[in-house]
Amino acid sequence: MGVKAEIAAYLRDEIGAIDKEAPESVALVYPSPYRVAMSSLGYQTIYRTINSIDGMAAHRAFLPDDVETWRQSGTPLLTYERMRPVANYGVIAFSVAYETELAGVIHSLELSGIPPLATDRTSRHPIVFAGGPLTFSNPLPLAPFVDAIVMGEADQSIQPVLRMIFDSVSKESALRNLATHPHVFVPALHGDILPPIDKADDARLPAFSQIMTPHTELRNMFLVEPERGCHRGCSYCVMRRSTNDGMRLVKKERVLSLVPDDAKRVGLVGAATTDHPQITEIVHALVDTGREVGLSSLRADRLNDDLMAALRRGGHRTLTTASDGASQRMREVIHRHTSEEQLRQAALLARRHGMKRLKLYLMVGLPGETNDDIDEMVELGNELSSLIPLSLGVAPFVAKRNTPLDGEPFAGINLVDARLRRLRRGVRGRVDVRATSARWAWVEYVLAQGGRAEGLAVLEAVKAGGRFSDWKRAFNALPADRPRRSLVRPTNRLGRATA
Ligand code: SF4
Repeated sequence: MGVKAEIAAYLRDEIGAIDKEAPESVALVYPSPYRVAMSSLGYQTIYRTINSIDGMAAHRAFLPDDVETWRQSGTPLLTYERMRPVANYGVIAFSVAYETELAGVIHSLELSGIPPLATDRTSRHPIVFAGGPLTFSNPLPLAPFVDAIVMGEADQSIQPVLRMIFDSVSKESALRNLATHPHVFVPALHGDILPPIDKADDARLPAFSQIMTPHTELRNMFLVEPERGCHRGCSYCVMRRSTNDGMRLVKKERVLSLVPDDAKRVGLVGAATTDHPQITEIVHALVDTGREVGLSSLRADRLNDDLMAALRRGGHRTLTTASDGASQRMREVIHRHTSEEQLRQAALLARRHGMKRLKLYLMVGLPGETNDDIDEMVELGNELSSLIPLSLGVAPFVAKRNTPLDGEPFAGINLVDARLRRLRRGVRGRVDVRATSARWAWVEYVLAQGGRAEGLAVLEAVKAGGRFSDWKRAFNALPADRPRRSLVRPTNRLGRATA
């Protein structure tokens, strides 16, 4: 398929795309492929918000499914709504969720014919800025590649930010104006001092899908957030209560009123959806109208027969929840507090309500973890698998900025792999274990704890081919005496350093 045919094929199956031409337009770029991007509620919300502003339009672009094929085609990166080269826009906005998407930012700029380093660009190049979930923890590695970073929730700051840019007489004055915004970081003017993250007014909530497409993980699913944030305090989590002042609820009636008549599948998403006091009623109400319902982030201590019955009616066949720590001791250490008994009850509830499988997420390589902790999970996993088929989704622990575990070291690729082998060996033949790569978790760790130097190393890794060995070489070549971490910690909106 040609590169333009790839775009046409995706567009053909979309419902809800906004076809707007306006005097001022923004290329809204997601640095991962279409399938990932269109599952992002934040990206879809910003797309709708910009298009709702008088005189402004947002046109989407994505990292191509196959970057090399696109490069060889000689076609510049194009926006979907206009088939217009991204480089022809005055403003390019990236939505960045994960550390490793920095490579996608670099590829997207290069495919657009724009020098990836901000210092190599002139006043004739577009203004490039970024926002998105990564800004809640540590966006500093992005600093060499962008002109500005919008920190935190951009639901309402996006309009004044774009107004500042479009009303400025030059790129330089736009950056000076942006630097006065309390939640915008301008790397050329602010050094490494990050401003506090923004929090949108409750009236802006909830975020909800604009476009439905079969070409995402959450196929043809209308997404809506019944709540934003979390009131709990897990010490590894960026979304914990200190990040944006806890959990904000959206009333059942408001959630239901947003679901379009033709949406057959509805996903209720948020950091802690099962902590919403009306969540069971919301699920029942959606199922009563014949819809399938998906629910993210189920907490084991919030499960009960009524919610399980609602989920089962809504099409759930797998119950997914999290243990996070491999043992009770580790769960206490990370303030997760889920008990073994709650996980056992989750398995029993899932079985009683006819679910086919229980899936548990957990981390390995947490600070202070030993083989005994892994052995406890082996024992529990084997026990639970006698109640219901069990899958474990395992991720190596990566310490994030803006959390109490900020600065904790990575356990090491060899150690994480050894713990994974021990876990697999202990549950072999009884539990399905799926683990994310320890190597790429180390890359994520270096960036999560890093700054501009680590960001520049990503450029070297991308130029060298982007294999793990390229990333490793680029990181290992960094001077040992570089500042390991910025001394400046992100603060919450009240200006307090987070703890
Ligand atoms: S891990 Fe989940 S429950 Fe814990 S603070 Fe984060 S969002 Fe809340």
